[in-house]
Amino acid sequence: MNKQQIADSIRAIYDYPKPGIIFRDITTLIGDAKIFYEVIEIFKNRYQGQKIDFVAGIEARGFVFGAALSYAMGVGFIPIRKKGKLPYTTVSEKYSLEYGFDEVEMHIDAFRGVENARVVLVDDLIATGGTAEASVKLIKSMSAQCIEAAFVINLKGLEGEKRLTPYTQVFSIVEYEGK
Ligand code: AMP
Repeated sequence: MNKQQIADSIRAIYDYPKPGIIFRDITTLIGDAKIFYEVIEIFKNRYQGQKIDFVAGIEARGFVFGAALSYAMGVGFIPIRKKGKLPYTTVSEKYSLEYGFDEVEMHIDAFRGVENARVVLVDDLIATGGTAEASVKLIKSMSAQCIEAAFVINLKGLEGEKRLTPYTQVFSIVEYEGK
């Protein structure tokens, strides 16, 4: 299977959630068993052999790909969630939005005492990179290592990758030059 087939499986929804935005809808990708499998295989082949301890996924679509990858690799999964959703004691990291700010959280014991844990961060898509940047900072604030941030889709025109490269490597499968 080539990357074009993966790209073709992602539905573009114009002017959602607001005019001018092209929403990249991955429900059509994950609904296709062969393509979902192939995406997880690409990630798995990239990270197995790199002594990864955990996969961390960003709410909510990062849970779909991240949990499948952690299962495929036989490592634990860590959910990174929006503020107020995790029940136990958390650590948090703020990031700015177009208007105001948002916050991501992780459980304080997420790494279960593993020292310098080697973590792969997963989300469906990187746009401006704000969510992923805050998530990488969160991982690092717990003395863990973010080996790479992996995305199915990179909207290169928004240059989110630039925000992450000071902190971690970036990998993506499907890239769009625009927004
Ligand atoms: P950002 O913090 O700007 O990189 O935004 C990334 C988050 O917003 C990811 O969790 C994406 O799921 C979501 N997102 C941003 N832009 C889009 C888009 N055009 N299509 C689908 N999801 C998007």
